[in-house]
Amino acid sequence: MGFLRSWHRRRMLARTRLDPALWQRVADSLPFLRGLTDAEMGRLRELAILFLAEKEMHGTHGLELTDAVRLSIAVQACLPVLNLGLEWYEGWVGVIVYPGEFRVRKEEMDELGVVHTFDEGLSGEAWPGGPVVLSWQDAGMTGAGYNVVIHEFAHKLHMLRGDDEGFPLAHGDMDPAAWRDVLKRAYARFCAEVDSGAPTVIDEYAGEHPAEFFAVMSETFFTDSAVLARDYPELYAQLAQFYRQDPAGVLPGTASGGK
Ligand SMILES: [Zn+2]
Repeated sequence: MGFLRSWHRRRMLARTRLDPALWQRVADSLPFLRGLTDAEMGRLRELAILFLAEKEMHGTHGLELTDAVRLSIAVQACLPVLNLGLEWYEGWVGVIVYPGEFRVRKEEMDELGVVHTFDEGLSGEAWPGGPVVLSWQDAGMTGAGYNVVIHEFAHKLHMLRGDDEGFPLAHGDMDPAAWRDVLKRAYARFCAEVDSGAPTVIDEYAGEHPAEFFAVMSETFFTDSAVLARDYPELYAQLAQFYRQDPAGVLPGTASGGK
């Protein structure tokens, strides 16, 4: 991070007053933050303040963005980069929030070359180099294994530095071959489970595409970590290295990453 940027950020933090009651209320509404230490909560609070200062969040279709809505989105968006830094969200500024599901027009070409146009209802969308679009109604339904904000912001990570399949690239303190290998094998295993017709604990949507697999597994990593650590221990260990977090608390001092 450049000197000037870091100076601006320190100044921003020094002069921003965040209402402690509002912070507490938002933090209490997000149960998956409960495993964070006081130091981590402090860092998350700082990141959220900087996120709100550096990104432009707009409500659309009559949705008024209250301070609580803005802070909640910022906190959830910053959780994945808590130990990576806001630099991972560089190159775009917009967050657009719809009151509920939004419809977008899509076109798809079939095997015969015929282009089909259809409307699709979406709860979130992330544009490469562009905004993140969220449905506040869906963002408010966060629960174990389901979090629209984390899902869309995870897409931003592979869009910043990803391979051509849709997985994010390993960063400096990771083994790139192990990362790729574990992601690919876990994705193949998940797709086979979906194809078998058996119900999956983790959202089937993860089988749509490697990028969706990463986004859904990131949701699970942060909001249903024990399930991911139990069912996909190797993937959990790799995601823990990628995010530099261990939400299930299963890794420190042990070699419990493998099966
Ligand atoms: Zn997605």
